[in-house]
Amino acid sequence: MKIISSIEDHSLFGRTLEVNILGEDKVCNFDCTYCTLGPSLIRISRLKQDAKFTAVDDIVAAVGQSLGMSAQLGKSIETILVSGNGEPTLHPLFLQLTKNLISKRAELTSSTNQFAGLKLTTTRTVCITNGDRLDERDIVDALNLFDECIVKLDAGTEKGFKKINRPLSRSSLEKILLGARSLDNLSIQTTVAGGDFSLTQAPQLEEWIEVLAMLNPAKVYLVKATGACSNPALQFVSDDDMHRISHWLERRLKIKARVELGFAA
Ligand code: SF4
Repeated sequence: MKIISSIEDHSLFGRTLEVNILGEDKVCNFDCTYCTLGPSLIRISRLKQDAKFTAVDDIVAAVGQSLGMSAQLGKSIETILVSGNGEPTLHPLFLQLTKNLISKRAELTSSTNQFAGLKLTTTRTVCITNGDRLDERDIVDALNLFDECIVKLDAGTEKGFKKINRPLSRSSLEKILLGARSLDNLSIQTTVAGGDFSLTQAPQLEEWIEVLAMLNPAKVYLVKATGACSNPALQFVSDDDMHRISHWLERRLKIKARVELGFAA
């Protein structure tokens, strides 16, 4: 996967530059049942030896160039979305990278730049994380630098979390929820699939809503899992199920979820 994995009009984020900071191979500490990137093959305990991370300067240069080129074409980027080939916070220089990305964005939006003297319109920075490293201070500091930090939350119980997200290291929903409360810019993304712990079941939905009530996120994104993953046992939900979950959330917490009926991250 390239550093700039896509530039496209996103239904939730507008014109979006999606940035993969992790390199060619998937690097993740989860193995979610619905993941479209295939299984996580690099062991977390051997990340330093086995993973080839992209250099910070290369990532920042690629982002700067894409922002400039887009402005030149008259199609300014509304959102820089850091997600990509796995869990972005596993990049060993995540804090430094985030600071440099934010500086580059500020540099390009505050003055005319080298791309034909064009000035960029304001571009939001968004990061999607599975939240597994939210117990580390520098990761929380880095995530708080984004305009929006979207934490994945697919279940409201430990059992559901383990079953759906299948963490590859010692992890718990409790730890993630505790960390998520330290974020000033928290949104939640929930991917919905079928099966035993699906939010289409009333008890699971209730637990999830309770957790959301406690977190009080600025936004909730509801994403429907689709078939493009390597798990043959994955079950799917209908569009009506998605709207029912969204409706129930709004009724209970007065939060209007943004519903995405195709997999987005
Ligand atoms: S956290 Fe994201 S990248 Fe990692 S396994 Fe889950 S869906 Fe895939």
